[in-house]
Amino acid sequence: MAHKIVIIGSGPAAHTAAIYAARAELKPVMFEGFMAAGVAAGGQLTTTTDVENFPGFPDGIMGPELMDRMRAQSVRFGTEIITETVNEIDMSQRPFKIVADSTTCEADTIILATGATARRLYVPGTGDDELWMRGISACAVCDGALPMFRDQPLAVIGGGDSAMEEATFLTKYASKVYIVHRRDTLRASAIMQQRALDNPKIEFVWSHQLKQAKGDDLLKSIVVESTKGEGEKELEVAGLFFAIGHKPNTDFLNGQLKLDEDKYIVTTPGTTETSVEGVFACGDVQDKKYRQAITAAGSGCAAALEAEHYLAGLS
Ligand code: FAD
Ligand code: NDP
Repeated sequence: MAHKIVIIGSGPAAHTAAIYAARAELKPVMFEGFMAAGVAAGGQLTTTTDVENFPGFPDGIMGPELMDRMRAQSVRFGTEIITETVNEIDMSQRPFKIVADSTTCEADTIILATGATARRLYVPGTGDDELWMRGISACAVCDGALPMFRDQPLAVIGGGDSAMEEATFLTKYASKVYIVHRRDTLRASAIMQQRALDNPKIEFVWSHQLKQAKGDDLLKSIVVESTKGEGEKELEVAGLFFAIGHKPNTDFLNGQLKLDEDKYIVTTPGTTETSVEGVFACGDVQDKKYRQAITAAGSGCAAALEAEHYLAGLS
């Protein structure tokens, strides 16, 4: 028999959808992923430390703990969680067919909450068989405390909230942190910018792009090039951290849903409805504007309510 609701993903959007669907007695099944798109079940917040802007935690809460709590709440109300990645969906048939690592099932409605994954820069030296993971990472919070980075100069690429947060975090360990940004103004929110600008261990390298990473076994330096035609310079660093945004996790949809030019799922404004009736999308996989835990959670709630409404119309 087909499940009424299958939720794919495991971040704040997926768990909020699960809590609402489970409390509505729709017996949701969640595929939380197994290192799906390179991120642990629980999503992006498993890669960060303090979350200070999620309401209800006046002293902040660690990202992984917040996700553990959301998962426990989903389970408490009866969500069945399967620790597998969904590799394929057939939306041409009703019920929909879902194929995961070793489980195949059917569903009357699907809630897509697969989030987004950190982007990398591919220049000479940063490849998988070069210095990637040998001083180069896309997650300062995961890797920044490694002994190889202690008391060393490090660099972060990007000008958004992630770059500010990661650079500030890295100053706990590093002798100095360069923030290399391709423009001369930041995209980050005012408070995050100010923290980084006020930090004496952070030096901004404005209007520069990464050109090359150099080293033998481990990263030793990076070459950055002016975006204003003012030449190159080499910075000695033991660590390089990308904080240049995210790619939505939509490859497994195989073109069955309408996506925008950056591969985010297109939803009807004001709803979580996708281009396929009965398939709903919430969280970062359909939101490139706000991309916050609380907005993801809010849209997860909306997706569950809309799926419930849709199911009521089927019976
Ligand atoms: P995600 O958190 O992206 O999780 C989706 C997860 O679903 C994936 O990670 C993966 O585990 C799983 N998945 C993916 N594909 C599949 C598949 N095919 N099958 C099964 N499972 C799959 N926001 C804040 O509000 N406050 C903060 O302090 C904050 N700090 C952040 C710090 C960092 C370093 C980063 C990167 C982001 C931060 N954000 C913060 C943003 C916030 O993490 C995201 O907006 C939020 O996690 C998005 O939630 P989501 O539910 O859409 O999905
Ligand atoms: P953003 O998309 O906000 O920023 C990406 C940054 O990387 C931009 O400054 C961009 O430059 C730069 N960039 C992109 N591509 C390249 C490239 N090819 N070469 C060089 N630089 C590049 O992503 P974030 O990950 O910073 O933030 C994502 C979301 O998560 C945001 O909504 C943010 O608010 C949220 N977040 C919130 C936090 C918090 O509230 N504590 C912490 C971390 C993230 P340009 O500006 O020129 O486009």
